[in-house]
Amino acid sequence: MFKVFTQLSEFKKAREELHNVSIGLVPTMGNLHAGHISLVKKSLAENELTIVSIFVNPTQFGPNEDFDKYPRTLEDDLNLLREASSGRDFWVFAPKSIEEIYPKGFSTQIAVQGELTSKLCGPIRPGHFEGVATVVYLLFAISKPNVAYFGQKDFQQTRVIKRMVRDLFLPVTISVLPIIREDSGLAMSSRNQYLTAEQKAEALKLYHSLKKIAEEIKACGIEKGLALASQLKREDSRFEYLEILESEDLKVPSPQDQKLVIAGVLKMGQTRLLDNLLVEIN
Ligand code: AMP
Repeated sequence: MFKVFTQLSEFKKAREELHNVSIGLVPTMGNLHAGHISLVKKSLAENELTIVSIFVNPTQFGPNEDFDKYPRTLEDDLNLLREASSGRDFWVFAPKSIEEIYPKGFSTQIAVQGELTSKLCGPIRPGHFEGVATVVYLLFAISKPNVAYFGQKDFQQTRVIKRMVRDLFLPVTISVLPIIREDSGLAMSSRNQYLTAEQKAEALKLYHSLKKIAEEIKACGIEKGLALASQLKREDSRFEYLEILESEDLKVPSPQDQKLVIAGVLKMGQTRLLDNLLVEIN
């Protein structure tokens, strides 16, 4: 059955009544697209009950970021999810207010520290990953999923969540699924709708640059890849970062590292577009 919960108390009560049911959780901020739906489909395939949360989490936005204008399209989201659920047990948790999640007096924060958050988006968005880790912890605590699904699109986020789960012995498996792209190659994102058609075409520069760097690494090694990444970044000030890191701990890569991530942010006006590619060398 397809059920929508807008109150935490109702959602918690329903969850407490469930026993011995395998549960997949897909945390989202709504404005769903094919990227989110790929996570939902995987959860449907692997679990008896799928729970999708839709919550634009204020604590992961900085003071000058797009919290107020972030697209909120609950009706469309529910239609998409109802269709994707095709009659299976499916719950949507869409808290009706911020206070459902953060009641008066809320005072706790989860901080994943060190290299995982001191690079890439960490320094550019102070407090962002604390906001993400805290809300994801909360969603795990109230949904008690067996598996939670995240997109590789937010690669650093997946590393932070996996580390939190490991460090705090949380009883959940984290499943990370590939980036879903538009036909052009542009990584799907709710923020793409801030772009004009022209900006969308220009935004492809990010994906093309990641691919060029990946080819350079494979053909000529990490050093050449690093040189190309810094050259491309120097040539276009819209790149907030364009980096190659070892993909487990997000350390600066050494020549022995075989699993790498090339991660970039391109700023189109006020909009930050994220993308990344994983590269394995041997
Ligand atoms: P968001 O609603 O943007 O917070 O995203 C919710 C989840 O969907 C996160 O785990 C994202 O990484 C994932 N996601 C967003 N865009 C994509 C995409 N293009 N492909 C795959 N997963 C995605």
